[in-house]
Amino acid sequence: MRYLTGLLVLLLSLTAVARPPVEITDPVVLHDIEMIGRMIIEAQEAGLQPLATDFKTTNYVLQFNLDADANPQLDGFAIIYAESKVNGLAAITLNLADLTVTSVSGDTTGAFTHSGEDLTITLDRGYNNGEAFELYIDYEGNPTAGMFFENDNGGIINTCGCPYDSKHWFPCHDMNYEKAPLFLRATVDDDYVFTSNGHLVSEINNGDGTKTWSFATDDPIAPYLIMLAASEFDTYEETFASDSGSDIPVQYYVYQGDVPDAQALFDPHVLDSMELFEDKYGDYPFERAGYHVGNLTYGGMEHQTCITIPNTLINGNDYYYSTVVHEMAHMWWGDAVTCETWAEVWLNEGFASYNEVIYDEAVSGDSGRRSRLSIHRARSINVATPMYDAPGIFVAVVYYKGSWVLNMLRHLMDVYGGTGNDDFFDCLKDYFTDNDNGTVTTEVLRDNCEDFWAGSPAHTDSDLDWFFDQWVYKGWHPEYQWYWWTTGSGANTVLHLQIDQVQTPSGTIPAVFEMPIDFEVDLSGGGSDIHTVWMDQRSQQFDIDLDDGVTGVTFDPGFWLFCEHEDHTAVDYANAEVASREEGLLVSWETEGDCVGVDVYRKLGIGEELLAVSLPSTGGYLDAVASEGTYDYRLVAHSSDGTRMEFFTGEIDWLRPGEPLALAEPYPNPVVDSVTVSFSLPEESVVELTAYDLAGRRIATLTSESYAAGRHSIEWTTSDLPTGVYLLRLNTSDTTLTKRVVISR
Ligand SMILES: [Zn+2]
Repeated sequence: MRYLTGLLVLLLSLTAVARPPVEITDPVVLHDIEMIGRMIIEAQEAGLQPLATDFKTTNYVLQFNLDADANPQLDGFAIIYAESKVNGLAAITLNLADLTVTSVSGDTTGAFTHSGEDLTITLDRGYNNGEAFELYIDYEGNPTAGMFFENDNGGIINTCGCPYDSKHWFPCHDMNYEKAPLFLRATVDDDYVFTSNGHLVSEINNGDGTKTWSFATDDPIAPYLIMLAASEFDTYEETFASDSGSDIPVQYYVYQGDVPDAQALFDPHVLDSMELFEDKYGDYPFERAGYHVGNLTYGGMEHQTCITIPNTLINGNDYYYSTVVHEMAHMWWGDAVTCETWAEVWLNEGFASYNEVIYDEAVSGDSGRRSRLSIHRARSINVATPMYDAPGIFVAVVYYKGSWVLNMLRHLMDVYGGTGNDDFFDCLKDYFTDNDNGTVTTEVLRDNCEDFWAGSPAHTDSDLDWFFDQWVYKGWHPEYQWYWWTTGSGANTVLHLQIDQVQTPSGTIPAVFEMPIDFEVDLSGGGSDIHTVWMDQRSQQFDIDLDDGVTGVTFDPGFWLFCEHEDHTAVDYANAEVASREEGLLVSWETEGDCVGVDVYRKLGIGEELLAVSLPSTGGYLDAVASEGTYDYRLVAHSSDGTRMEFFTGEIDWLRPGEPLALAEPYPNPVVDSVTVSFSLPEESVVELTAYDLAGRRIATLTSESYAAGRHSIEWTTSDLPTGVYLLRLNTSDTTLTKRVVISR
């Protein structure tokens, strides 16, 4: 079931007794205004408590005469086949709202009371545990919910019993676990095409302006999934070739003239999604499939074998395909395998929603998975309510966080599963097979998962309580703050990860979410590796040995974790140098901390030129300068959180190699502690570079050796020399050049 009603519809719903007119004017907008319908559900939910489970329904036989123009509109007859679950059962109570019971017969004294929504029938004797009995109930009336007589398509009768409204049109114990096979017969106007659950048994023209249609299900059905619909539908049919070997008829009932528009929505997706879900979970669970159009105020209702979707979704394109896929996924998850109570509704809706993800992934690859998950994340990341027993039943958290919990479980099972190969889907196949035609709880799912769970760094193979406890029975999600740095270098690099959980704990929000977290580590030599840490404390540091330097780290690169995370790393150290080469100037640098890239600028007077962007955190750049002169560089290191750090090389001279012998102006001058002395040679030469004071005394020999042709620089440390004027003299075999240097402090 999927809600997309708007506020206007809600207001009408709460004030009108019968089904409100539907005022959807812009389905695209209303499709995204989700979950308002939950307030209607809350109002309904308040009226119903589970009845005693002292009997079990074994078959439903429901018969109706339906006529919008008659009074009463509904003339009903029900046979409830049941079995006692206790000894000496003397009476049973069914749910029936609004309608009037005219008589009861069968295994009863004929005595009954109908008070509020409780119809209590006295049995003809005490029935012991396991003994069967049957009750025939005649009733009539005008339903105020659950069944709707409307004017769409020239007149339509349709129903929606979800979650507790079946009791408004037939007597039953209106609980999900009361699954039993159904036989449903209805007499309606002979212009109408009629449909219900299961397969058509007979269609009889009564010759009096009416027809009687009979349907039966091969499989048990929960009361909320029982439906009927009658209108002057246009129909068409496809065939799904099931892996079971059966050809499953897929039947469509749409408003008159709408077949081409309906085909645009259904045909690209229905058979494909059935094939995909068969592959993932097991054979299509029923004897028939299909959709009918009705006047729903919400997005769709997964009526077993005959899904109801609102007419607003039929508009000549497949914009609403995810609803079509979602409802089809419910045939496996919700209809065949049904949440035992509505407190467990995430087992219906989280599964159907995650199958939107599975479908998009099958069609578009991993980008499809991420894209659909992004939508689900946005709709549930701000919800603090636990998924279990969420107020309102059909609320965002059970759909979209439910989807994410399965995404997390999938990754967890894939990393730590028993076979290391598709354990998640193998587990769901097993869970489906075990529980087909039954009802389930979170504990049942957990037990199936544990069969495929090989254990983790912190947990044995028999324990997944921790996962379901924090994600299903508790609310919210981890808020991670993290940063990284490295020590060592090259083959001895150690990556350090510091991670803190900063969510505010409460009675339902854990102080610690225990989860594995993947990090993608970009290596200096190129490429990247995934490293997984197991976080089970509020604050933890992890040290990972690497055989290469690190240029960047990405949190949860696979988009597997339902969380918020902030990279609090910043560049905390950076240094740069520049050196002269024959071909130009080599700028080199190193950074520490979170550096995802370095940009290099050459300063030009008061302006600058961008030379390169996003270079590694430690590296070099050769600036092939075109002309001799003085150069200066600015570098910018970027952190992954968007912060930046600037750092500088200082100025340097460059002389063109191959030029005549030259001695550059020393830099800086005046000198404090050290000075760079640069010279260029037209050919390989022995160079002696000497410093003298003004009295002609030799103070230092800076170099005396052979140099290649080109540009060279020598650093002269002057920190222990007195202030004053000095001469630098460069001698080659045939030339002497001199420059003046002032030491000044
Ligand atoms: Zn749903």
